Amino acid sequence: MHEVSIALNVLDIITAQCKKEGYQRIDAVRLRIGRASGIMPDALSFAFEAIKGDSIAGHAGLEIEEVPVTGSCRDCNAVFTSDGEYVLACPVCNSGSFSITGGRELDIIDMEVS
Ligand SMILES: [Zn+2]
Repeated sequence: MHEVSIALNVLDIITAQCKKEGYQRIDAVRLRIGRASGIMPDALSFAFEAIKGDSIAGHAGLEIEEVPVTGSCRDCNAVFTSDGEYVLACPVCNSGSFSITGGRELDIIDMEVS
């Protein structure tokens, strides 16, 4: 389950950031996760709950904002948003020639500290 290593990574980053800024405790963390990133938000929340333990993020809640997959077609220039994790063809002209422009991100948006 690679969500565990991602959760550890997120915990490392926010812990370091929190200490650097001189705070004692992380209350909440907000992440932005693209639907095409291959990360399952539920699994990531579960992993984060499991590993945060008695770290300074031990009471932190994880809020996840999902970003839909977006793309643009090279044939008809349509810009589209997909409901799913994958795009197989342009929804306007059915072309297979398109580029994915969003939905792969994993960003820490911000966190609340005290
Ligand atoms: Zn198209």
